Amino acid sequence: MAKTIIFLGPPGAGKGTQAEKLQKNFGFVHISTGDILREAVSKGTELGKIAKRYMEEGKLLPDDLIIGIIEEKLKQLKDKNIILDGFPRTVKQAQALDELLKKLGRKVDAVILFQISDEEVIRRLSGRRIDPKTGKVYHIEFNPPPKNIEVIQRDDDKEEVIKKRLQIYHSQTSPLIEYYKKQNKLIAVDATKPPQEVYNEIISMIQL
Ligand code: ADP
Ligand code: AMP
Repeated sequence: MAKTIIFLGPPGAGKGTQAEKLQKNFGFVHISTGDILREAVSKGTELGKIAKRYMEEGKLLPDDLIIGIIEEKLKQLKDKNIILDGFPRTVKQAQALDELLKKLGRKVDAVILFQISDEEVIRRLSGRRIDPKTGKVYHIEFNPPPKNIEVIQRDDDKEEVIKKRLQIYHSQTSPLIEYYKKQNKLIAVDATKPPQEVYNEIISMIQL
């Protein structure tokens, strides 16, 4: 059966960074709802127009809208190994995901919980920079971009929005820790370590 792995943790915990490595080394398909929405915003689609309003304020989009997007993606990727990054973010999304996967004859295999403090998240997000051409993620201090690349800062990586996103993580997303603990699927990793160490910890914990 194709594998489904969820990356759970606050914004800035390093989920995208690790998902890229697993995609490159093991052929996982990296599904980031944040990336899907940012692409829609930059193309100015109907979805993008709606998404922009929520994202600018650091708020979550309505569950049904996001669940619809994931349903489409999952149908297209029937027999692929996938990493879900940034989804689910609410208990309602998690329940919908369980149902969708069941219909497709698959299930959540493991949930990697990225453990990190709010202070560290703020340091990471305020220093995060993106190469708009490739989408590659850098950090001004921890992973500086090459000098010839012009990087940008995400609109929602500004201090007031970061704080709002963290609040929303704690109130709406962290209940998923209990949800997956009850299903015996939760694997916690120390996300404060350097990227290669976090990576080694993840691959030692999941059967690939
Ligand atoms: P997420 O996908 O969870 O929002 P990212 O992967 O975009 O997080 O990482 C957030 C920021 O922290 C980026 O600037 C990234 O370069 C940096 N980063 C990621 N992992 C680490 C790490 N283990 N140590 C230090 N900085 C990291
Ligand atoms: P991310 O790139 O994962 O940090 O997501 C950026 C923003 O996209 C979030 O702050 C939300 O506004 C929106 N978003 C991404 N994923 C979801 C989701 N699963 N549910 C609701 N909103 C989402």
